Amino acid sequence: MLRPILRLGDSILSEPARAVGEITPEIETLIDDMIETMYAAPGIGLAAPQVGVPLRVAVVDLSLGKRGGELFTLVNPEFVEREGMQLEEEGCLSVPGFNATVARPARVIVRALDRTGASHIVEGTNLLARALQHEFDHLDGLLFLDRLRGIKRDLIVRRIRKMQRAGRW
Ligand SMILES: [Zn+2]
Repeated sequence: MLRPILRLGDSILSEPARAVGEITPEIETLIDDMIETMYAAPGIGLAAPQVGVPLRVAVVDLSLGKRGGELFTLVNPEFVEREGMQLEEEGCLSVPGFNATVARPARVIVRALDRTGASHIVEGTNLLARALQHEFDHLDGLLFLDRLRGIKRDLIVRRIRKMQRAGRW
């Protein structure tokens, strides 16, 4: 089932998410819905707070579902390693229409539970490292705008506020 994606301004997006206690049928449904919602958007990653669920669950698939084996389900993820730095443009399904250059680690290693509750390791470089760090940030209540320097961030936030006032957000 598709779930509506919350946009900047919704308080759930700025709150740290809670760890998942156990993989219940509700969590499996949440994961299925998140994957469907991510592909429909379309986006390469989605975190549970973006669909209004403050739990530490994220999905990432750089292929948008076009290639097998590239879908990662991350429950209670933690970083094992982060190194290097990359500067690229990125956007967010919760901040549609806006992109900005964000500094991210060049390589990350993440340990997380999968949808069966088994622990697995995901290693990512370049875009995958960026996507993993971006989704992690959502679980900590951060948007990519929070990684920008003041002036750039203020400019985007001002434009969004204007859209909110005009009822176009
Ligand atoms: Zn995002």
